[in-house]
Amino acid sequence: MKKKQSYTFKNATVITYDPKNRTFTGDVCIEDGIITAIGADLACKDDLIDANGKLLLPGLIQSHVHLCQTSFRGKADGLGLMPWLESRIWPLEAEHTPESIYQSARLGLEEMILSGVTTVCTMETVHHTGSVFSACEDAGVRAIVGKALMDRGQGVPEKLIQPWDEALSELEELHKEFHDSEDGRLKIAVTPRFVLSCSENLLREAYDFAVKHDLVFHTHASENIKEVESVRSELGCGNIEYLHRLGTLGEKTLLTHVVWPEDGELDLIRQTQTKVAHCPTTNLKLGSGIARVAEMLERGIQVGLGSDGAACNNTLDLWGEMKLAALLASYKSGPGSVDPGKILGLATLGGARAIGWNDEIGSIEVGKRADLIMVNPDGPHWQGGDDWFSKIVYCGKAADVELVMVNGCMLVENGKLI
Ligand SMILES: [Zn+2]
Repeated sequence: MKKKQSYTFKNATVITYDPKNRTFTGDVCIEDGIITAIGADLACKDDLIDANGKLLLPGLIQSHVHLCQTSFRGKADGLGLMPWLESRIWPLEAEHTPESIYQSARLGLEEMILSGVTTVCTMETVHHTGSVFSACEDAGVRAIVGKALMDRGQGVPEKLIQPWDEALSELEELHKEFHDSEDGRLKIAVTPRFVLSCSENLLREAYDFAVKHDLVFHTHASENIKEVESVRSELGCGNIEYLHRLGTLGEKTLLTHVVWPEDGELDLIRQTQTKVAHCPTTNLKLGSGIARVAEMLERGIQVGLGSDGAACNNTLDLWGEMKLAALLASYKSGPGSVDPGKILGLATLGGARAIGWNDEIGSIEVGKRADLIMVNPDGPHWQGGDDWFSKIVYCGKAADVELVMVNGCMLVENGKLI
């Protein structure tokens, strides 16, 4: 990671995602990690980066991932959600040590940063969350890290069951140690795993903690039909309806998946300004289904995009997720139902809104943090057409990312980690 924080990109094709959604050819100046000027022929004096013929985009935002699961890649194929959790993921998570989880996180971050991800919103396991903060700190990425909260559940190893009061006091310690550290680059989230692994007490107390400290409340919800049926048979109502009854929906709540909302539940999400993370590859790989993203966007629900963990994807490539999200929306709601500009938005400004960080990231605007990526569109797979959004979503690849910057610090140059 290169610490210097002042640069000028010259003659880039800039996809801004500013309020006017401008795309223009020109310069972007960065001082001390902040975007200070955007325009043509700027007279910024700092280190010049020749971006002629290159695309400059807001850094990609992973709205849902599990860094602790990177080392489980290929160890849990061919299973649906509950057997996947019970027979593989939970036992593997229970075996993690602080060192193994750090290595798993670094590996996942390396893959993501090289592909242009500048922010991750990650749900970790029950223990060793401090190791993941350390990995994010060392890798230079912007991150919202949560410790999984689980105090009950069928098939959960004993090691992963933690009484809610103990979990909350650990959360308090993590909050004190890591929240807003590294120049505000690292934040903590409150992350109950899902309704089936959390008592009512845990969910209520965890949400109160999130509200008290103004934190994102991030959980899985309605990923799989069997999960939704189990919630209904245990609790007598819909999964998302249950979260609403407990008062845990709201503008800082991020629900991952929402493949199986029941009648009226998308309305609850919209009314409460709850956010959604869409993980298309995972939803197909675990055989869960296809989320109704076009409908969510039409209703004004903010949606981000995620790879989920490497144990259910099995890569952490948002370029692939963008293309798949576009294809699935076309299949589910008709061709053209979600245009490529909106799809790129899921991985940039929409993602920033989904994780509650759009005041600082998600677009290239003066005053925002310099989280940027430079992409080389010279390869044969980019040639033809003049719609950059279409080319980015349908043609772009992770390997086309040449430069990655977070907070004005260079993490990738010439396609290599530095
Ligand atoms: Zn997940």
